[in-house]
Amino acid sequence: MIKENLEKVRKNIAAAALRVGRDPESVRLIAVSKTKPLSMVLEAMEAGAMEFGENKPQELRDKADALCRPDVNWHMIGHLQKNKIKYVVGRACMIHSVDTFELAEAISLQAQKTGLVMPILLEVNIAGEETKFGAKPEETAALARAVSELRGIQVRGLMTIAPFVSDPSQNRVHFRNLRDLSIDIARQNIDNVLMYDLSMGMTGDYEVAVEEGATFVRVGTGIFGERDYSI
Ligand SMILES: *Cc1c(COP(=O)(O)O)cnc(C)c1O
Repeated sequence: MIKENLEKVRKNIAAAALRVGRDPESVRLIAVSKTKPLSMVLEAMEAGAMEFGENKPQELRDKADALCRPDVNWHMIGHLQKNKIKYVVGRACMIHSVDTFELAEAISLQAQKTGLVMPILLEVNIAGEETKFGAKPEETAALARAVSELRGIQVRGLMTIAPFVSDPSQNRVHFRNLRDLSIDIARQNIDNVLMYDLSMGMTGDYEVAVEEGATFVRVGTGIFGERDYSI
C-alpha cells in the first residue's frame, strides 16, 4: 500500500509541476512518518523514499538511529523546544520550524559545539492563524537578518503550515504569499541567508503548493494512511 501511495503522490507532484512549467525534479517529497512504526518507514525506504519528516525530537532521534542509513535524510518539521535541540542537531538534515531568534541562537550554539552548520527554514504563520506557530509575515525579513549573524546555522528558505481547509485551492493565496515573501527577502541580499527552499503543502493541498513553487512538500497521511493518536 505504501509503495502504491508513494507512486501516486510522486505522479501527482510531477503532473502539478509540469502544469506550471516546472521541472518535477525541483520538488522533493518528504514522507512524514510521525507516529508510524519503523516497519512502515522501512517499507517506504524500500519503495525509494529518501526524505522523512518527524515532528517530535525524540521520535526523530530514535528512528534516525534505528534506521541509520547515509542516503536517507531526516527533516525536523515540528515545533522545537530549546532543551530538545540536542536530539536533532547531527541527525536532521534540516530544521523547518525555526520561528524565533532565541531558537535559532540555541540551534546555532549546539551546531557549533558539534562542529557543523545546521540548515534551517524560517517558519511563517502566513495566514495569521492564532493557533499556529510561526513568525508574522511582516517580521520575517527582520528575523532573517537577525539570525544571519549566527554562525552555526544557515537559512535556506521558508516553511509554512497552511490552514486546514476542505478545498485545497483556498490555500493557493497563502502559498503564493509565502513565495512572494521569499522573493522579497531574497532581493534584500542578506549575507548567509538563502531563499532557495519553500516547504509548503501537505496531503490535502500539496499539488496546489507545487503549482505555487514548493520545493519541499510534506506528505504523511497520503503515504502512510491516517494517524492513530490514541495508542
Ligand atoms: C503531520 C505534518 C505534516 C503531514 O500532514 P498530512 O496531512 O498527514 O500530510 C506536514 N507538516 C507538518 C509540520 C506536520 O506536522
